[in-house]
Amino acid sequence: MLTHHLRRDRRPAVPGRLAIVAAVISLALTSCTAVSAQDDSAQGRTPGAADGVLPDHTSAHNTSLPGVTKLDPALREAVQKAETAMKADGIKLQVTTGWRSKKYQEELMEKAIRKYGSKKKAKEYVADPDESHHVTGHAVDIGPTDADYWLIRHGNRYGLCQTLSNEIWHFELVTTPGGTCPPMTDPRG
Ligand SMILES: [Zn+2]
Repeated sequence: MLTHHLRRDRRPAVPGRLAIVAAVISLALTSCTAVSAQDDSAQGRTPGAADGVLPDHTSAHNTSLPGVTKLDPALREAVQKAETAMKADGIKLQVTTGWRSKKYQEELMEKAIRKYGSKKKAKEYVADPDESHHVTGHAVDIGPTDADYWLIRHGNRYGLCQTLSNEIWHFELVTTPGGTCPPMTDPRG
């Protein structure tokens, strides 16, 4: 409809007042376009399955989701073994996040900056895209809480350890099977 207006205003050789009207309309059009372009790019940034977003109840055995398939193969295999063992104990493991694209991590960081007001503060809660072990495929977030406690107790059988003291759901392959988990250090996921 706006295009139609513009076309109509441009049709004759435009005298003074009409030229101003046309200019105003075209300005309005430009700003409309700018706003909708912003909206579009915001939507374009919304991460999807290709960025590692996983549906609820994702198994570590799922071989069709990038969030699982792009994990470090040794980590994925360890989580699969833990999932099978846990199932025998009546607990159903879910991978809530595995591999994440840098874009996904950047989006999480932007959200955290909006929430906490500064990048410095946000970094206490979200790892920088260049530092996140999810982006390199070397970390998994596991749920539900039952599964987290099971892994905290038995994960070392598979080399899996909680590595961030403030995230009981975040595990990495940081010891040998049956080995001792190293002390937790970095308080970010
Ligand atoms: Zn994590």
